[in-house]
Amino acid sequence: MSRRAETYAVEVLERTPLSDHLVRLVVGGPGLAGFASTGIPDEWVGLVVPGQFQSRYYTVRALQPDRLVLDVVVHDTGLVTEWAAGDVAGETVTITEPKGSFDVPTDAAWLMLVGDLTAMPAIARVTESVDLPTYVWAEVPDPLPDYLTERDGLDVTWLDAPGDGESRLAEVVEGIDWPEGDGYFWMAGESAQMRAIRKHLMRERRMPATAYDVMGYWRSARRRPRAVDPGPIYRAGKAAGKSDEEIWADYDQAREATDG
Ligand SMILES: Cc1cc2nc3c(=O)[nH]c(=O)nc-3n(C[C@H](O)[C@H](O)[C@H](O)COP(=O)(O)OP(=O)(O)OC[C@H]3O[C@@H](n4cnc5c(N)ncnc54)[C@H](O)[C@@H]3O)c2cc1C
Repeated sequence: MSRRAETYAVEVLERTPLSDHLVRLVVGGPGLAGFASTGIPDEWVGLVVPGQFQSRYYTVRALQPDRLVLDVVVHDTGLVTEWAAGDVAGETVTITEPKGSFDVPTDAAWLMLVGDLTAMPAIARVTESVDLPTYVWAEVPDPLPDYLTERDGLDVTWLDAPGDGESRLAEVVEGIDWPEGDGYFWMAGESAQMRAIRKHLMRERRMPATAYDVMGYWRSARRRPRAVDPGPIYRAGKAAGKSDEEIWADYDQAREATDG
């Protein structure tokens, strides 16, 4: 039986703007007692802000025993973004226990990390946690010169986010010159871009599912609302013994059929 996720009522200890579109929140206090990291570098928590019931996901950019750092993108409208744009220090929010997904194979010779601004906290933590030659492609709306700590073997390409609020990451990945040998590809950003990339990795590059992790972190309002219920696809996939990546592919296919 699945158990209810633990929740933690924590205080916003600090709020610091890092750029025009990114705000750092340090949360902690006695309510964080018992919070245990998964140790997975792209781990995230659900965040419920005051006056709301719905949660949104945020990456744990850094953690110490008594505090967590969350870097929140400030975009146009939304529950968390509008809240985080204000003076929130001293407020109490709820976070859920963390989950992670990044799973680099032991024999990987390199890492390729691609994402938009929402992915930067995870990319930063991965580059600090995994000591492999690492190529980063970061699509950001304004410069973040000190966001990634320089180290040997870290090669970062900054890309200007298109001014129209859309992302061109799928096009970027399709043009990447891949390193030799086997590695691990991690990517997160706008969902439609991620679907295109999963298809590219599977069909064009024929990468095994264990060699990549591609996650839709947010959904552009320009796309039509979700018209496919993932539940039946997930259950049918599991019953057929499919891997999570194969089930994602089935879901993407069903979405494409309805997205137009
Ligand atoms: C595992 C995971 C980890 C994540 N980690 C982070 C993180 O560390 N930092 C972070 O900022 N985000 C992160 N996200 C993305 C974040 O959860 C979404 O962007 C979320 O929708 C923001 O909530 P909101 O309340 O501000 O906007 P919502 O109320 O969800 O959405 C309102 C409107 O804003 C649009 N929108 C949502 N997000 C964006 C965006 N980023 N840019 C432009 N338009 C947007 C939507 O299309 C919608 O129309 C993560 C998501 C996942 C799944």
